[in-house]
This record gives sequence, structure tokens and C-alpha cells, in this order.
Amino acid sequence: MSNAFARSAALSRISPSATIAITQKARDLRAAGRKDILSLSIGEPDFDTPGHVCEAACAAIAAGSTRYPPVSGVPVLKEAVAAKFARDNGLHYAVNQIVVSAGAKQVIANAMIATLNAGDEVLIPAPYWVSYPQLTQLCGATPVFVSTSAADGFLPQPEALDAAITPKTRWLILNSPNNPSGAVLDRASIAALGEVLRRHPHVWILTDDIYEHLIYTDDPYRTLAQVCPDLADRTLTVNGVSKAYAMTGWRVGFAGGPAPLIKAMELVQSQLTGGASSIAQFAAAAALNGPQDFVSESRASFRTRRDKVIDALRAIPGIECATPDGAFYAFPSCTEFLGRSTANGTVLHTDEHFVRELLETAGVAVVHGSAFGSPGQFRVSYAASQDVLDEACRRLQQFCSSLR
Ligand code: PMP
Ligand code: GLU
Repeated sequence: MSNAFARSAALSRISPSATIAITQKARDLRAAGRKDILSLSIGEPDFDTPGHVCEAACAAIAAGSTRYPPVSGVPVLKEAVAAKFARDNGLHYAVNQIVVSAGAKQVIANAMIATLNAGDEVLIPAPYWVSYPQLTQLCGATPVFVSTSAADGFLPQPEALDAAITPKTRWLILNSPNNPSGAVLDRASIAALGEVLRRHPHVWILTDDIYEHLIYTDDPYRTLAQVCPDLADRTLTVNGVSKAYAMTGWRVGFAGGPAPLIKAMELVQSQLTGGASSIAQFAAAAALNGPQDFVSESRASFRTRRDKVIDALRAIPGIECATPDGAFYAFPSCTEFLGRSTANGTVLHTDEHFVRELLETAGVAVVHGSAFGSPGQFRVSYAASQDVLDEACRRLQQFCSSLR
């Protein structure tokens, strides 16, 4: 028998997170001496975690809250999550309907591991966050994409959803504001999707609301369980502190949903991680319970940057870019440049070639749209300083105009 390393069948169905891979490549290039590299690839706020949140973590350490926490989360955080859902979303979950995990990513993974069987289908509107199809495949299930178009504002259409549902459909994943398109589902669009879902009682709904607070329209934020309360008994409402409170590294996410599902997710978590860091959980409770000025200030700052970046991108001949209503991504098209060559003769056949050459020749890291199921586009994270954004747009313009 060979002693060569072999991956499991489950692992061979997945690939690394493209967003993380490109960010790591930018870091490696910088470490190798390319000090000019500008990274607009990772989706995370560029702010520091608010001071009172950091102090709560220090206080938790000083108080000795450093032992294994309850698997589903420390009571003070679960109560803070229940209060947050009631305050922001009009959703009233009992404590046994809430689970805390090491990031929204783990919440989603737990939900899938707890429910999916080989052959099941998961409906994912495209463009989508990179991890949804990968986690689906890790569980042996099949991602089924519901395409959306720039003309429809990248919003999933009820007819397309209806046509994609089969007896094998287990979940529909909704993500609003969307990563990477920034599209936001308003009350009417959610209600229209709800109409379809009512006709298919076997389909459960996972709403990923992680960008809830980063929304630049005048309408208040809406999530499906709130707009369609009759669907709440098959909806998992996922959220977390990463984006709203600049806490990506703390690794705390949470969800509210039907008690039997939450219990099943807790069982998965008891064997996988035992739960999120106790210290980070006390910090997250302080974020949810404390003053919320940080949230409105960062929203205002992202909005200003969004407006400038969209203007700068649209000023580049050949680039088209819709105005995203939420999150901190611009999602322009690069189709105009495909088939052209760089100054050193490399032909750009795909969006992946486009972003690779942009990184290597102009030192700007962005993520190719095909990683999100939307070839011909690329994602720019504008959660960076205005100086970095200005310089990156200048280099992008120069790069595009150099293509022949
Ligand atoms: N959902 C979406 C749409 C995201 O962009 C991210 C960011 N990585 C996550 C979930 C995961 O967030 P967390 O840091 O809470 O794991
Ligand atoms: N969600 C972020 C992004 O899309 C973080 C990276 C990841 O977890 O994929 O860039």
C-alpha cells in the first residue's frame, strides 16, 4: 500500500476560498518585496474593533471567563442575540432557538452538515458568496444556481426560483445585501419569493444577513422571517458581528431558527469545535448590547467610499458598474477587455486572467467574478482607505488603457 497523502472524497469535491486565496497571494507578493501591492480582495471592514468591545474581552479574561463555554454560546451573548433579533428584525426567538458559532461561516457549515444528504440540492442565486456551493459540495449535496442579471439588479426572480425547485431541493440560500453584487432585497421582492416558497413546503430557507447594517437605501432592512412570519418555522436567520462591528478576527456568528434545527446544529458543533471562543463571545455581547454609533458611522463612511469608487470605476472606458445598495463591494464588468493582450503579450481570455494580470502588473488585488458564479465581472472591496482606493482606481484605469 502506498503511503502517499490522499485527500478524502469529500475534500476532493471542494477548492480553497477564492477570496482568501487571492488575499493570501497579495500578502505573499508583499512579503516577497512587492511593497506596491494594494489589496481590494478581502471582504472585511478596515476599521479597528470599537474600544468598549475590546475592553469587554479584557474584562472577560480578568474575570476568568476562559474555560470551555456552553456549546451553543454563553448565556449573556445568547440573550444579547435574542434582543438584537427583536430590536432590529422584529423576530422573537427563545434562547433554545439561538446558536452562536465561530463566525457566520461555521453557522452555515453546521446547518448544512446537520441537514444535507448525498443527492440533496441547495438553491443558490448567482452571483453568490464563494463558500455556499463549496460547503454544499463538502456535504455531498449539489448546488443548483438560480441566475440573476444586472438588468434585474442581481435580484433572484420568483419565476426563476420556482423553476429551479425540485423534490430534492433542501435549502434556498438568500444573501441580502449580497456579496459580491451588493444587491438588497426589499420587502416586496422578499414577499414575492415568499409566495413561491409557500407552494413548496419542503424547501427550507437560510438567510445570510451578515451585511444587514451596511445598506445605503432609505428603506429599512428586511429579512425573510420578518416579512413572511408564516415561513419562520423553516427559516434559519444567520448573522454575526464580523461586518457590523469590525470583528472579523474574533470569529463570532449566530443564528435564530426552529429549535430542532438549532439543536441539530449544536450537536454538530459539539463534535467539531465545542463552540466559539469564550472571550470573543463576551466581546460580541458588548458589541450587540452597547452603543450602536459605530454601526451608523461606518455605514456613512462606506457610503462615501462607495460613491467615489463607483464614479471612478465608471470613468474608466470599457468598465460598466451598477451602484450597489449595500455591503462594501463594487462588482464591475470586464468583458470589454477579454480577448485583449497585455503589454507583454499575455492574452486575457477570462476574468481570472484579467485579475491575475492586474495583480501582477499593476499590483492591485481584486477577485474574479467567476469565483462568485458570475464570469466577466470582478469584485472590488472598497473597505480600504480613500487613498488606497484612489490609487487602485488610477492603476486600474492605466492597466485597462494599456490592453490592446
Ligand atoms: N456570509 C457572507 C456573505 C460573507 O461575505 C461572509 C464574510 N466572510 C460570511 C458569511 C462569513 O462571516 P464570518 O466572519 O461571520 O464567518
Ligand atoms: N466574506 C469575505 C469575503 O468575501 C471574507 C473571506 C471569506 O471568508 O471568504 O471576502
